[in-house]
Amino acid sequence: MSQPASPAPDNCIFCKIAAGKIPSRKVYEDEDIFAFHDINPWAPVHFLMIPKAHIASMAQVGQEHEALLGRMMALAPRLALAEGCRPYPEGGFRIVTNTGAEGGQEVHHLHVHVMGGPRPWLKG
Ligand code: 5GP
Ligand code: ZN
Repeated sequence: MSQPASPAPDNCIFCKIAAGKIPSRKVYEDEDIFAFHDINPWAPVHFLMIPKAHIASMAQVGQEHEALLGRMMALAPRLALAEGCRPYPEGGFRIVTNTGAEGGQEVHHLHVHVMGGPRPWLKG
């Protein structure tokens, strides 16, 4: 079964954010990963982590992405604490990656939502 076509990176809002062509409130950046605050936060802390390379969604992830995704997952707790999430177990955070239409994905550049802070939250 073929995957739906990815938008060309030229038209991808998160590629533009990673490249600094669209402004964002940056949380973190290295050679491969960019993190920035969600424009419409659901929680007191809500940022997105993206690979700089355009990957449309988790459905396109292959073995060649294992190291990148591992780095993103290992980085998430550090950034969550730095952005104000309280420590585990009283605090903590939620990591969400929506994938495809039925998974609730709106922006088709792979992103990891990291949310935390005192409840109640708007959603989640
Ligand atoms: P999805 O529904 O695809 O998992 O989540 C996309 C997220 O990207 C949403 O939470 C939305 O608020 C956020 N978002 C969409 N456009 C922009 C933008 O231009 N800047 C920032 N910072 N966040 C965005
Ligand atoms: Zn992109």
